[in-house]
Amino acid sequence: MIKPDATSKGYTGAILDQMIKAGFTVKAMKWTKLTTEQAGLFYDIHRERPFFGELVEFMSSGPIVAAILEKDNAVEDFRKLIGATNPAQAEEGTIRKNFAASIGENAVHGSDSNENAVIEGDFFFSKLERF
Ligand code: GDP
Repeated sequence: MIKPDATSKGYTGAILDQMIKAGFTVKAMKWTKLTTEQAGLFYDIHRERPFFGELVEFMSSGPIVAAILEKDNAVEDFRKLIGATNPAQAEEGTIRKNFAASIGENAVHGSDSNENAVIEGDFFFSKLERF
């Protein structure tokens, strides 16, 4: 997912370009905006964390790009491509180093396991929207 900070700053094209050049294939993609309820459901695992309210408010503050990307070893390779959660700790050349402003507003989301990738893909896309 490309988060609202990055879409509002006009980074969508550059981020997609970096993902595609890194070898990821797009299987599904949409430009949409989450309600606070949807953002809360997406990040349900963080409900008890102190930053949950801030996270939900931010993630529903503007449009996002949701996508299903395919590649061998996709989860691990995508986490490497996006870099550390806190952009101050992200390696040079990573998407968060290039485009993120803070630990909260950090430009992109990537699934942390194959299992969660399936759950998150199903959150956004029907079978008819995947090619
Ligand atoms: P990720 O897997 O690298 O996205 O990191 P996490 O799963 O730990 O956190 C999910 C998302 O919650 C992050 O990408 C941030 O947008 C947000 N987040 C994490 N830690 C903080 C924090 O300390 N403050 C705020 N405001 N947001 C945070």
